[in-house]
Amino acid sequence: MDDDLQIDSDEDLFRNPVYYEPAARNLDLDRSDLGVPQGQELLDVLLRMRGRVPVEKRGLICPDCRDLRGRRVPMYLVQRDGVWLASHYLS
Ligand SMILES: [Zn+2]
Repeated sequence: MDDDLQIDSDEDLFRNPVYYEPAARNLDLDRSDLGVPQGQELLDVLLRMRGRVPVEKRGLICPDCRDLRGRRVPMYLVQRDGVWLASHYLS
């Protein structure tokens, strides 16, 4: 394998964009305010839903799957090394 072409695939895999349906916007998980108004509160709300609200009903979906394949694929948040990442929820 050519080292120059080798990417950090695992990191890359988890750097998924995530779209929040109620706000009709993509969230920026690199920012503590998610790049949206009241983003910090929103993050709290989303995290409180874990274990209570089914993933499909939390409003987070993959914008790429929607745009490229016309599919609504729910996403959930995972924390890795202190950073929030969005992962596809494949039911
Ligand atoms: Zn996707």
